[in-house]
Amino acid sequence: MQKLQGIAVSPGVAIGEALVMDNEGFRIPRRFLARDAVENELERLSLAFDAAAREIEHNRDAVSRELGKEYAAIFEAHLQMLRDPRLRGELDQMVRERHYSPEYAVSRTLRRYAKVFQSLDSGYMAERANDIFDIEKRLLRNLLGRRREQISNLTSPVLVLAHNLTPSETANLDRRFVRGFVTETGGAGSHTAIVAEGLEIPAVVGTGPFLTDVSGGDVVIIDGDQGLVILHPDEETIARYRHEVEQRRTMAARLESLRDLPAETQDGVRVQLDGNIEFPHEVGHCLDRGADGIGLYRTEFLYLGADVEPDEEAHYNAYAEVVQAMAGRPVVIRTLDLGADKLSTPGLDIERNPFLGLRSIRISLRNTELFRTQLRAILRASALGDVRIMFPLISTMLELRQAKMVLADVMEDLEEHGRPFNRDLKIGMMVEVPSVVIMIDQFVEEVDFLSIGTNDLIQYTLAVDRSNKDVASLYTASDPAILKLIELSVQAARRRGIPVNLCGQMSGNPLYTMLLLGLGLRQMSVPPSAVPEIKKICRSVTIAQCEEVAARARRLEHARDVKRYLKEELKQVLPELVG
Ligand code: PEP
Ligand code: MG
Repeated sequence: MQKLQGIAVSPGVAIGEALVMDNEGFRIPRRFLARDAVENELERLSLAFDAAAREIEHNRDAVSRELGKEYAAIFEAHLQMLRDPRLRGELDQMVRERHYSPEYAVSRTLRRYAKVFQSLDSGYMAERANDIFDIEKRLLRNLLGRRREQISNLTSPVLVLAHNLTPSETANLDRRFVRGFVTETGGAGSHTAIVAEGLEIPAVVGTGPFLTDVSGGDVVIIDGDQGLVILHPDEETIARYRHEVEQRRTMAARLESLRDLPAETQDGVRVQLDGNIEFPHEVGHCLDRGADGIGLYRTEFLYLGADVEPDEEAHYNAYAEVVQAMAGRPVVIRTLDLGADKLSTPGLDIERNPFLGLRSIRISLRNTELFRTQLRAILRASALGDVRIMFPLISTMLELRQAKMVLADVMEDLEEHGRPFNRDLKIGMMVEVPSVVIMIDQFVEEVDFLSIGTNDLIQYTLAVDRSNKDVASLYTASDPAILKLIELSVQAARRRGIPVNLCGQMSGNPLYTMLLLGLGLRQMSVPPSAVPEIKKICRSVTIAQCEEVAARARRLEHARDVKRYLKEELKQVLPELVG
């Protein structure tokens, strides 16, 4: 049994067979072969070696012709390694005697060689490890080439274990069969994590390297609450987790009874509890859980899996579906937040610092045709229900005014063409850049509502990449600076008499509910799966109690003390929610 600690990003427990994707997206198959398959598999290995050698010779000759012999020497070294009888003997023996699959044998052996090179105290030798990885990839490509399977072609339940998954790969996971996933990279605030919550499957990211220790078909447990991944679990551990799955079912069934009750505190203060969605079908998840509205519709996910740029009708159809399903309840549609880790933007250069680069409202303001297309669709959908519009990643007043000007212009256009829309639709902005909080008193004069995006606010305030596992311990909503920024925003909105929501992942974490209520927040927008728990907390506390919690938390100097304190408080109110 091997336990890996990663970052918990989507709750729940999954037990099942692994589907392993290596860092080039190859699916590493089962470790063991059937006894009668050995001869055929040895033949396959032999053909892969021959094909790999031919490719290298071809590259060597081409480089030699173009650049001269000395540049082709590297390929000679690769060929020598490939023709080393000891390597070949070791692999054949693994297949013949241990019944390992050729892919598994190649991966395991060459990675072991590479590790030895990496451990040598010499930069030159460490570099040679890359040559070995190169040979491994070449052999795997030849072994798996035509049989390379997509994660989308599944026929039975699996847990996906991968080096990395992009937000779009995650969004395209087949929910009928993928019961959970783990990635070696990634951080708590990454969009891959957000999509996982949307899919409502347990997920852990940022475990660090482990894919060499597991192969397709191995039994794995993903504990999405503790951020734990257990490889090859023993019977006792499996039994314990099965019991936990059962307990969760019971708890979920109990919380279901809250669906039609309001998120109202014991002293009668009504909290607006909305859901965050990425795709129209998630509206069902929100309604099933008893959300009051959609507090954040991340429209950029319309681009995922789309071969062509969505036109106005594609935008409109998606929004109309959501608005109609919400039947008069509020729907906050956020304009495109493209760029950064979500979706690379075609035609734009690879950026060195994408989170500080051309993303979100900056793209919309540079590409006004794209922006206007979306605004037209949102405005048209506003004729169907309570639509509100929200601009993401505003960092200066000029950006906000420009965005509003384009919106006003599109309204004129629609009016001229006699298209119906709500002229009085509410216009809001996200608070996710510290510059906005610094100037918050001016911003509240210009909008109808605010929505605090802590996912970005944390990364821009603490200078921590939200998707980088190596700085994940620094990425926390408990930091006193973050609490201060939330408090300043809430107070400014209250003074101005406009609503303020919090739609970052923080509001879906039960740990922070009392604190946020105590800081004066009366609206939260959370992943749909979190609605029942957050509602339960709201209904179990008084505002006076929460204000006391907030006052004490604010006096603490360190994030870890804040977290520890909030955990104690939650334990007293609802011990079953504390893991
Ligand atoms: C946020 O930054 O908190 C937010 C809700 O936006 P996103 O996670 O889509 O960047
Ligand atoms: Mg954001």
